[in-house]
Amino acid sequence: MISVRDGQNRILDRVTNIAPPELVAVVDALDRVLAEDVPAPFDVPPSDNSAVDGYAVGSGDIPREGTRELTVIADLPAGSVHDGTLAAGQSIRIMTGAPMPAGADTVYPQEIVEREGDRVRIGPLDKGANVRRHGEDIASGTVVVAKGSPLRPQEIGLLTSLGFVQALVHSRPRVALLSTGDEVAEPGSVRKPGQIYDSNRFALRGSIARCGGQVIDLGIVPDRREELRARLLDAASMADVVVSSGGVSVGIYDLVKDVLEEIGGIEFWQVAMQPGRPLAMGSIGPAHFFGLPGNPVASMLAFMLFVRPAIYKLAGRTRLFPATFHARADEPMRKKTGRREFKRGILSYAAADRTWHVRTTGPQGSGILSSMVVGNCLVVLDEERGDVEPGELVEVEPF
Ligand code: AMP
Ligand code: MG
Repeated sequence: MISVRDGQNRILDRVTNIAPPELVAVVDALDRVLAEDVPAPFDVPPSDNSAVDGYAVGSGDIPREGTRELTVIADLPAGSVHDGTLAAGQSIRIMTGAPMPAGADTVYPQEIVEREGDRVRIGPLDKGANVRRHGEDIASGTVVVAKGSPLRPQEIGLLTSLGFVQALVHSRPRVALLSTGDEVAEPGSVRKPGQIYDSNRFALRGSIARCGGQVIDLGIVPDRREELRARLLDAASMADVVVSSGGVSVGIYDLVKDVLEEIGGIEFWQVAMQPGRPLAMGSIGPAHFFGLPGNPVASMLAFMLFVRPAIYKLAGRTRLFPATFHARADEPMRKKTGRREFKRGILSYAAADRTWHVRTTGPQGSGILSSMVVGNCLVVLDEERGDVEPGELVEVEPF
C-alpha cells in the first residue's frame, strides 16, 4: 500500500514533458495556461485623469475659506485631450476618465459646485482630490499575469486593457480515454441483460475538458486481451496521456493489468484510500498511462487525485492542487485509521453560528454516482484520524 501523497508525488515526478507553448489570440485564450510572465508595457492609468464628473482646477485657485468664481473655458469629454494650459481663474468641465488638462491638479465633483452660465463657484477642497494618478493601478514593467496561471475572464480583461491581442499559452495536452468491460454499453444503444450504460467515460470526458485537456474519446473496449492491447497501443500513439477505467482490480477478467505488463512500464498500486484503492500508473511508449478503477465514484475520485494534477502539470500550471477549507461535521462519520477517506458531503453555511457545516450525502458506496450529484464537496479525512464526532472540524474540498 502507498499513501495518496506518495502516489501523487511519484506521478508528478514522472510528468516532466510540459506541453510546448503556442501563440493564440487573447479572445480565444480563456482557460488556457500562460507560458510566460506578462509585464505591463505602460503605466495604468497611462496619465492622470479625473475620477468623477466635475470641474478641473489648478490648486492655486482653491479658496482657503469662503468661495471663489472661476470661468469655465471648455468641456472635456472622456477620450479627448485639452490642448491648452489652464490659466489662473480658469476651470474646465471634465468627465470621468478624461486626462487632466495641463495646469489642473484637482477635480470638484459637479455635485459640490454651483454653475451659472460660463461661471462655476467653488469652495475649499484638498489639493489633488478626485484625480487618479498615472501608474497608481499598475506601474510599467510589473508582471501582471504570471507564467503558469490559467486565464480567467479577469486575466483576459487585464491583458486586453494593456493592448495585447495575442498570448503565449501552453498547448492543451491530448488525453485519450477508454472504458473497459463486456458489461459496459454505449448510451443510446440497446442494453443487453446484465449490461450497464457507460458513465465513467462521460464523467471523465467532462473532467478532462474542465482541467484543460483535449479529449480523444476511444469508446468502449471489451474484455478481450488482443483487442485491449491493440486499442491501448493505438491510444498511446495519438495522445500525451491515456486514461482507462475498469479492469485494474483482481477479478478474473481484469485484463488491463495483464496486458499492460506486456506493453509498458506500468506499476500497480494499492493506494491507502477509500473509495478507489486499485490504480495503475506508468507509460505506454511516450504517453503517460492511468488505469482508473471501474466503480464510477472511485474513477472520478482517482481522476481528481492523480490525473488532474498530472494534466495540470503537463498543461504548464503552477498550482496543481485545489484549496481546501474546514467545516464543522453535523453528524458522526465512520473512519478507519491508516487510509485517507473521501466522503461526498453537503456543505452549507449556518448564519446562527457563522460557520460552515457539512454532512454526508448518505450511503457512500463507490458505485453510487448520485452521491457526487447530490453532494457539493468532498470531505477529506486524513490517514491518522479515526471516527468523526459531530461538532468536530473536518477538511472539505468544494466541487
Ligand atoms: P472493474 O474494475 O472492471 O471490475 O469494474 C468495477 C465496477 O465498475 C463494476 O461494477 C463495473 O460494472 C463498473 N464499471 C466499470 N466500467 C464502468 C463504466 N465505464 N461505467 C460505469 N460503470 C463501470
Ligand atoms: Mg471490468
